[in-house]
Amino acid sequence: VPPDADAVLEGLDPEQRAVATALHGPVCVLAGAGTGKTRAITHRIAYGVRAGILRPDSVLAVTFTNRAAGEMRGRLRQLGVSGVQARTFHSAALRQLQYFWPKAVGGELPRLLERKVQLVADAAARCRIRLDRNELRDVTGEIEWSKVTQTVPGDYAAAAVKSGREVPRDPAEISQVYATYEELKRDRGVIDFEDVLLLTVGVLQDRYDIAEQVRAQYQHFVVDEYQDVSPLQQRLLELWLGERDSLCVVGDASQTIYSFTGATPDHLLDFRNRHPQATLVKLIRDYRSTPQVVHLANSVLAQAHGRAAEHRLELVSQREAGPDPSYTEYGDEPSEAEGTARRIRKLLDSGVPASEIAVLFRTNGQSELYEQALADAGIPYQLRGAERFFERTEVREAGAALRGAARFGGNDALLDDAVDVPSQVRAVLSTKGWTNQPPAGSGAVRDRWESLAALVRLAEDFARARPQATLADLVAELDERAGAQHAPTVEGVTLASLHAAKGLEWDAVFLVGLTEGMLPIAYAKTDEQIEEERRLLYVGITRARAHLCLSWALARSPGGRASRRPSRFLNGLRTGSAAAAAPRTSSVAGGVERAPARNRKPRGPVLCRVCGRTLSTAGEMKLMRCEDCPSDMDEGVYDRLHTWRAHEAAELGQPA
Ligand code: ATP
Ligand code: MG
Repeated sequence: VPPDADAVLEGLDPEQRAVATALHGPVCVLAGAGTGKTRAITHRIAYGVRAGILRPDSVLAVTFTNRAAGEMRGRLRQLGVSGVQARTFHSAALRQLQYFWPKAVGGELPRLLERKVQLVADAAARCRIRLDRNELRDVTGEIEWSKVTQTVPGDYAAAAVKSGREVPRDPAEISQVYATYEELKRDRGVIDFEDVLLLTVGVLQDRYDIAEQVRAQYQHFVVDEYQDVSPLQQRLLELWLGERDSLCVVGDASQTIYSFTGATPDHLLDFRNRHPQATLVKLIRDYRSTPQVVHLANSVLAQAHGRAAEHRLELVSQREAGPDPSYTEYGDEPSEAEGTARRIRKLLDSGVPASEIAVLFRTNGQSELYEQALADAGIPYQLRGAERFFERTEVREAGAALRGAARFGGNDALLDDAVDVPSQVRAVLSTKGWTNQPPAGSGAVRDRWESLAALVRLAEDFARARPQATLADLVAELDERAGAQHAPTVEGVTLASLHAAKGLEWDAVFLVGLTEGMLPIAYAKTDEQIEEERRLLYVGITRARAHLCLSWALARSPGGRASRRPSRFLNGLRTGSAAAAAPRTSSVAGGVERAPARNRKPRGPVLCRVCGRTLSTAGEMKLMRCEDCPSDMDEGVYDRLHTWRAHEAAELGQPA
C-alpha cells in the first residue's frame, strides 16, 4: 500500500478504518447519526483509489438527495479524489438511460413531463371523473406512490388498502385515472420523473448486452443512507451489481424517513442474511454533536417503537459540552419566524457564518414565512441546495451571456479589456437586470439574485487566484465546474425540509413548527406513521453540531385562536431526564417569548418559483408556484409528495 494511501486513514477511528480498508466483498455499516458513516465511505473510496485497488471511474456512489450527493463529491474532492461518480439514484439512472436509449429503444429519450398535474387533470377529464384542486393533487400523489412502489393501475386498489393509506377518492376511480394518465403520457411522447427509474430497470432487465455494458463500467458500489432504499432502487442496485458482491452499504435504521414511498430499513437490517460473508461494522461514537444534542437525540430514540427502534444504538458524544438546546413557545407563526430571525441575527453577530445555520421544517409550505422574516431582517438565505447550481435557469442564462461576451467582448462597449474580470461579469449580469443590491422581496426573485451573486463572488475569487486571467478563462473555469458539478458555496442560512436535511450538518439548527399537526403531521395516524414522524425529529436534532433551538407557535396568525399544542414528542424531553442533562435554557421555564405585534408590510406580487409568473390563488401562493409548474426537482419525488402534503397540513392548521 503506497504511503499516501495510508495517510487517508489518519483521522479515522478503528471501526471507521475497518470500513475503509474492507475493499473486497460486501460491507455493511450500521450506525447512528453523526458517527462518521459518510466519512468512512468517502475515505474508503479514497483509500481504495490511492491504494490502486479501485479505479475511480469504476466506482458508483449513490445516495438520496442532490444535496447529499454534492456533499459526498465535496468530501472526495477534499481527499484529492476525482473521477468517482457520486450521484442520486435518479441522476445515475437518468444518465444511463439517456446514453442507452438510442440503442435500447431508438431515437432520443422522450422529454421529461413538466406539467404533471395538468396531465392528471386531463386523464381525469377523459375518465369523466371530476376532481377538485386538492383531490387532483392527492390523486397525483397516489400515482407517484404507485409508481415508486411498482404498483400497476390494476393492483392499485388492493395495494392502497393493504398499505393503510388514506385514499382521497374511490380507489377504483384512482386506478382508472392512473391507467389513463399512463396512456396520455405514451400518446404525447413524454416520461415522468418516476419513469426514469422504472425504465432503467426495464432496460437493464430486458437487455442483457446493455446491462453487461453498465456492469463493465461500474464494478464497485457504495450506498449511503441505505435505510431509505425503496424496492425499486434496491432492484436497480441488484441489476447494476449482477453476480458480483463489491457493495458497501451504510445506514441508520432510526433515520428511515421515506417509508411512505415503500422504503424499509429491512434491506439494511437483513443485509447480513442476504450476504452472510459481509463485513459488519457498528459505529457509536458521535463526532458531530455536543453531549447536550446527543443526549436529546438518545432521549427521542428511547421513546421510539418498532423494528428500527429495536436496533437503535446509544450514541456517545466525542465533543466538548456546548450550549443547551432551547425550547421556545411563540404566540403565533409570524412571531415564531421573526423570533427565529432575531436569534439568527445574534448568532451571525457572534461570528457564526450564515452557511453554518439552518432552519428546518416539516413541510415546504412552512418556508415562506421564514423567507419573509429573513428577508425583512436582511439575512441572506438559500432555499435550494447548492448542488443544482449550474442547472438553474438564471445561472445557465448568465453562463451563455458570459460566453457570448467572452467571444465578442471586443465589440461590446460594456466590456473594456484593462477593466477586471469581476467588473466585466457584473457588467454582463447587469444586462440581465442584476444589481449589487439584493432585491427587497423574498422567494424566487431573491433566490435568483443569490445565484447570480454567487457567480460574482466566484469571479472575484477566481480573479484573486489568477490575476492575469481573462473573461474567457473564467468561462472555461465555469464550464469545468459545471461538468464536475462543483458549485460555489452559496453563502446564506439554509431553509430546508427535514427530509432534505438528512445527512447534512450545521453549527446551529432551528427546528421550527413543532406542534401537533405539523410534527407529527396531521395525516400521520397509524403507529408506524407516528414512529416515522418521531424519526424525523431525531433526524432534525442530529443535524446540529452545537446550537439547537426548538420552537413552536400556539396560533397560526396574530390574534388568531391559540388552537395549537406543542408536539407530543417534546413530552418528557423538556421536563424529564433530558432536562436534567440539558437544563433550563428554555424560555418556556421563564415564560413565553412573544414578539411585538407584527407590522404587516405590504408585499409585492408573489411570483412562481419555477416560471416566475405572478401567482393569483391562495393555494398557489402557499405552494409558491403555479399549480401546474413542477416543483423544484431538487429532492425529487419525495419532496414533491411533501409539497402536496404541506398544502393539506396548512389547511388543517387553520383556526376553526
Ligand atoms: P448521518 O447519519 O447524519 O448521515 P454520518 O454517520 O454520515 O451522519 P458524518 O457526516 O460522516 O456522519 O460525520 C459527522 C461529522 O463527524 C462530520 O463533521 C465528520 O467530519 C465528523 N467525523 C466523523 N468521524 C470523525 C473522526 N474519526 N474524527 C473526527 N471527526 C469525525
Ligand atoms: Mg451520512
